[in-house]
Amino acid sequence: MTTWRKLLKESIISADQLADFPALNSREITEVSSVYPMRINPYYMGLIRKAGAPLRRQAIPDIREIEDTEGLVDPLDEENLSPVPNLVHKYPDRVLFLVSGQCAMYCRFCTRKRKVGRPEMVINDSTVQAGLDYLRKTPQVREVLLSGGDPLLLSDERLEKILKAVRDIKSVEVIRIGTRVPCTLPMRVTARLANMLKKYHPLYINTHFNHPAEITAEAQLACARLADAGIPLGCQTVLLRGVNDRIEVIRDLMCKLLQIRVKPYYLFQTDLTRGTGHFRTTIDAGLEIMRNLIGHVSGMAVPTYALDAPGGKGKIPLTPDYLKSVGNTLEFLNYRGLPCSYPNSEPADKKT
Ligand SMILES: *Cc1c(COP(=O)(O)O)cnc(C)c1O
Ligand code: SF4
Repeated sequence: MTTWRKLLKESIISADQLADFPALNSREITEVSSVYPMRINPYYMGLIRKAGAPLRRQAIPDIREIEDTEGLVDPLDEENLSPVPNLVHKYPDRVLFLVSGQCAMYCRFCTRKRKVGRPEMVINDSTVQAGLDYLRKTPQVREVLLSGGDPLLLSDERLEKILKAVRDIKSVEVIRIGTRVPCTLPMRVTARLANMLKKYHPLYINTHFNHPAEITAEAQLACARLADAGIPLGCQTVLLRGVNDRIEVIRDLMCKLLQIRVKPYYLFQTDLTRGTGHFRTTIDAGLEIMRNLIGHVSGMAVPTYALDAPGGKGKIPLTPDYLKSVGNTLEFLNYRGLPCSYPNSEPADKKT
């Protein structure tokens, strides 16, 4: 058995395996994980032991997950936007194709917690075939985003079969994989996997790190293997209360991502998913973090802060407001709060 499969098999899935964590309520964890499964593999468990609360909160069930009645079961209306099961077609030119129901760790804040890791998420040869058939008859789709669950939890063979089938569709220009594996189980990214993936270019990978303590030597090696295979790497971080909602943490995370050759892509405002309300920050808090990031660090380290609008309305970029007044001149405040202006007109002596 490969190392990563063995680690996955040794994952903590029940409360009694957490007995040496003194402050945890085992009855509550059992209750929550019977609704929303827990899976913490030994690699990520090791990180939790080192880094504490910010990582623990992402992985260990919390009673508030089942007390929340306000959240939306399917906040992005994905089920209604699926022409076939497990394929979300929301934007004209790209689709989200869910090809795996499993993850290397079940994030407590997952937008798809209604189904990820649960029996409700049925993915098999026939659902994958139905997705491929839809792509074949929908040529306006230029980009296919493989997601789940985590596509890298599939075997190399199964993933390659899907990649090959998608690549064979002439209208598909770009393939993107969304995976948290470089963060939660980096040993899954073997040299063999990287060698297989590089046959399917142009292929992009967006991964998902939420805290600087997740950027380890193992994660660095996984990202190097992918980057060396010519795969541009992006990161989709989620802004989470009690995990990374402080400017120092976000700044450190974004700079460390660049060091492991990952370009920050999105910083997401938490979706209104049922069972995740305790992770939500205000949008003002997020804007304040962005204000302290933009200009203060390399533009390469600055993601787009975005809200995925409820009801499947798409992503809305959220930017701090630098424009203070509009008129014959535009008045701005720069990243340090210093005033500046720029004419709002063409030169008066312009010859026609
Ligand atoms: C987020 C998302 C995408 C990708 O959006 P980008 O802005 O291109 O990253 C595509 N389809 C769905 C359904 C999505 O939720
Ligand atoms: S890795 Fe992604 S899909 Fe899987 S549980 Fe975490 S957020 Fe959800």
